[in-house]
Amino acid sequence: MGRVVFIGAGPGAADLITLRGASRLGDADVVLFDALTDPALRRFAPQARWVDVGKRGFCDSTAQATIDAMLVRFAQTHAVVVRLKGGDPSVFGRLEEELDALSRHGIECEIVPGGTAALAAAAASKRPLTRRGHGRSVSLTTAMTRERELQAGRAADTEVFYMAGRQLARLGRRLLAAGWPDETPVSVVSRAGWPDQLASEHTLRGLAQAALLHAGRPAVVAVGAGAGRVAPTEARVEPAQAVVA
Ligand code: SAH
Repeated sequence: MGRVVFIGAGPGAADLITLRGASRLGDADVVLFDALTDPALRRFAPQARWVDVGKRGFCDSTAQATIDAMLVRFAQTHAVVVRLKGGDPSVFGRLEEELDALSRHGIECEIVPGGTAALAAAAASKRPLTRRGHGRSVSLTTAMTRERELQAGRAADTEVFYMAGRQLARLGRRLLAAGWPDETPVSVVSRAGWPDQLASEHTLRGLAQAALLHAGRPAVVAVGAGAGRVAPTEARVEPAQAVVA
């Protein structure tokens, strides 16, 4: 009986994986990988058999059940099975179902974290997710329910929505209905962490305009305190920090 290592590939290009993730790939006999992972990661595991279990957007439960079964089967016949997921495995990665399948079969596992898309988006747009004083909480939210309905509310100073790229206009309307003001800053970043990443800034009222720009690309939508531009006063280096020499 082998073991399974879940590895977060990071939110984009191959060099965003952690050193530990890259090193564990080097031990793999089999790698089951998702669609949003960079093919260049293969260089860390040229010895392994790479199996595409890619899925984009809405995936049905049959597809997930097949992946669960494959993981178990490979772990029963190989020493080290890597399950490579985009971003971080614990964030909207159906990790609970895969962990459950392994534990039911008594298969050992380890999880190696990776940077999630919200973090790469904050970096790409240069908009810190937390702000002293007014940006004290961040929520990572999927805009889609299991029934494929769009849901959005106001639970934190900054809300980062995943899986909303196809419905930006509706997301904007839902957020206005949830009580966010018209002029709330919104930052949309698609393909964050890749060389062709794209960031745009909007107000909540104008969010629909982002749809065309980011069409067909994985995107996250940050709303609220952490989506605003860093004001010159916030960006200024405080005198105490400036005295380095
Ligand atoms: N586990 C992943 C999320 C998987 S869900 C993570 O931690 O990042 C898939 C959703 O993630 C996409 O619909 C999109 O909203 C977001 N996403 C994934 N990669 C992205 C990227 N490079 N840029 C922007 N959003 C991304």
